Amino acid sequence: MTKYAYFHNAIVPIEQAKVSVMTQTFNYGTGCFGGIRGYWNDERETLYVFRIREHFTRFLNSAKMLLMKLNYTPDDLAAITVDLLKAEGWRQNCYIRPVAYNGDETIAVRLHDLHAAVTIFTIPLENFLPTEGLRVATSSWRRVDDTAIPARGKIIGSYANSALIKSEAQLNGFNDAIVLNQDGHVSEGSAANFAIIRDGVLITSPVESNILEGITRRSILHLAEAEMGLRVIERQIDRSEVYLADEAFFCGTGAQVAPIISIDHRAIGNGEVGPLVKEMQSLFFAIVRGQNEKYMDWLTPVKN
Ligand code: PMP
Repeated sequence: MTKYAYFHNAIVPIEQAKVSVMTQTFNYGTGCFGGIRGYWNDERETLYVFRIREHFTRFLNSAKMLLMKLNYTPDDLAAITVDLLKAEGWRQNCYIRPVAYNGDETIAVRLHDLHAAVTIFTIPLENFLPTEGLRVATSSWRRVDDTAIPARGKIIGSYANSALIKSEAQLNGFNDAIVLNQDGHVSEGSAANFAIIRDGVLITSPVESNILEGITRRSILHLAEAEMGLRVIERQIDRSEVYLADEAFFCGTGAQVAPIISIDHRAIGNGEVGPLVKEMQSLFFAIVRGQNEKYMDWLTPVKN
């Protein structure tokens, strides 16, 4: 269904956006990517892209950690994305995938003295994780550590870790998993940040717990405090503390706000979606669809 991609500095038909099997990043995972959502508002005939500048800032920060030289600012990439979305003309929810890769066709493993490039494509996307209550396990894998691969960035190679976590959970009959750090504290989900609510306090692992610096997480923490009057604490979370949470959820571009109803076969709260996560979900969905005037500056409108 996708018709176009940004590739070799131009918007081209998707069939032309191809790289060689010899490409460095295809062989070694030495690139980075982003994941951004666009929400279609039918009444206004407008696609709203969520926090595009923040996403491209993280994207360029991930590239910086990998010594990639990219001649773009977040605003340049946002403008290219808007042009791409106009060409594509989605009148439905969609997902935007920028990728920065080293296009060199050589087999020397390194980061420096390579030719980095950006490609962007978009796809239609609805819910990616069920939003009506997830059954989750604790992964037997550990989250990639910042001492091995920068965990705060969206590095392609580190998604082997995410895939190991996700497949183990699904093959064992769960929707997803929470993953612990090397030190045994909870980090996040396979591809989403994680939080619990206990006695009306929202608790989430700090960035030093090897989490990806999530844009949705940052937005949710703001909304919890500013709109819901919750106290928010960023601190280490023990595995057993999770079992005693009143509510728990994943948040992320793909996950959106995804309530968790059980972890390791223990019901979270009474085993149904909790009231605060439900409220957070409605607040979030109204904002991303452009139905909350106060947060329009989080959105980039694209008229299709
Ligand atoms: N952690 C990981 C490992 C992820 O892949 C994602 C999705 N990008 C997230 C957290 C959530 O981040 P964001 O809200 O920026 O999408």
